[in-house]
Amino acid sequence: MNAEILAVGSELLLGQITNTNAKFISSQLSELGINVFYHTVVGDNAKRLEQAIEVAESRADLIIFSGGLGPTKDDLTKETIARHVGVQLEMDEVALTYIEQFFAKRGRSMTDNNRKQALVLTGSEVLANHHGMAPGMIFKKDHRTYILLPGPPKELEPMFQFEAKPKLAAMLNDGGTIASHVMRFYGIGEAELEVRVQDILDRQTNPTVAPLASDGEVTLRVTAKAQTEQQAQQLIDAKVAEIQALVGNYQYGVNDDSLASKTVEMLLDNELTIAAAESLTAGLFQSELAEIPGVGNALIGGVVTYTADAKVKQLGIAQKLIDTHGVVSSECAAAMASAVREKFATNIGIGLTGEAGPTAHDHQPVGTVWIGIAINDEKPLTYLLHLSGMRNTNRLRAVKFACHYLMQQLEERGYKKRY
Ligand code: ATP
Repeated sequence: MNAEILAVGSELLLGQITNTNAKFISSQLSELGINVFYHTVVGDNAKRLEQAIEVAESRADLIIFSGGLGPTKDDLTKETIARHVGVQLEMDEVALTYIEQFFAKRGRSMTDNNRKQALVLTGSEVLANHHGMAPGMIFKKDHRTYILLPGPPKELEPMFQFEAKPKLAAMLNDGGTIASHVMRFYGIGEAELEVRVQDILDRQTNPTVAPLASDGEVTLRVTAKAQTEQQAQQLIDAKVAEIQALVGNYQYGVNDDSLASKTVEMLLDNELTIAAAESLTAGLFQSELAEIPGVGNALIGGVVTYTADAKVKQLGIAQKLIDTHGVVSSECAAAMASAVREKFATNIGIGLTGEAGPTAHDHQPVGTVWIGIAINDEKPLTYLLHLSGMRNTNRLRAVKFACHYLMQQLEERGYKKRY
């Protein structure tokens, strides 16, 4: 099945909003193994929309529309499609009742425009909108499938994920099911990971294995088709075990995990506390951890010691150490990690120091980062990074590496990690 995503809305063409719906739908379709060959954007204009539909029909058997299902005059997606495919619009009573209740609950009066939102293509399967008013639709004609979704992402995303996607999966799989599982890796480049699992990638059929790299991380999405969910899960489990045997030591999590969420989970599971002294990241490490609910039982505090002077005054790092080794050094990262661990009386201290760029200040090339990790009373460990991104990419990478190395070290010490 080949798909085209047709986003309707003049705001998109005027550069007022980004077409995040196309991105979202594309990533969802790739999970189903559906090829997306084209993204099209067209303004709120019936004639140009109809031309775009004709073009899409010439090259796709699944056309997914986003936007233009609202109550106003410029919302013309379903009217234009109805005319084009030669069907009438009819009132969907379920959607109408939902809209009526929506207004009644808020004590607002309903206009004819709002009733218009409950009109659907005759013969279509209606997709409920639990986060707004306009229902979506799946309409089939001549071996072609048209899916109509509302524009607001907070309506479109759940509608696609929970209403349309399972129906598409069933259509693709003759009533069977499709399941997928994401394996998340850090500390290994996409190219190297691909080389290591090349054999698996070359002979993939069912499950399929799709690599993807972003923000310094690499993921492998394993997707299986089967008659039942249990069978699909068994196929996935076997493939995951095969992959883990090759590159399991780089895997940090699955599905929606992040390096920060896994780090926090591991700290909480093992009742460990942490503090950080941050120079180039200036609090970013702590901020990333703080995004995870419950972190208060693990993250005790930290300091931002940006200048050499602050490192001396706030952390008590010896001026001589800085004069001898510089602030971007293994010695300084180790001293920062130890000092902050002591200051906050935690199990773990993290020190982050480096040259984020774009210009270097401490006689070290831009992208040089030292991470210090102090665990309990052990001598701190340090790690050197040579990052090549822009300033803020480097800062975020440094934080991710700190999480990655910390988890590795904790695991080596026998602390438990969930998989
Ligand atoms: P509404 O009932 O809100 O009018 P609609 O289905 O008619 O919904 P539009 O009017 O086309 O949708 O868009 C509504 C809002 O949804 C836009 O103002 C924009 O914020 C968002 N939106 C629309 N299309 C996209 C898109 N392709 N990507 C991201 N956001 C979008």
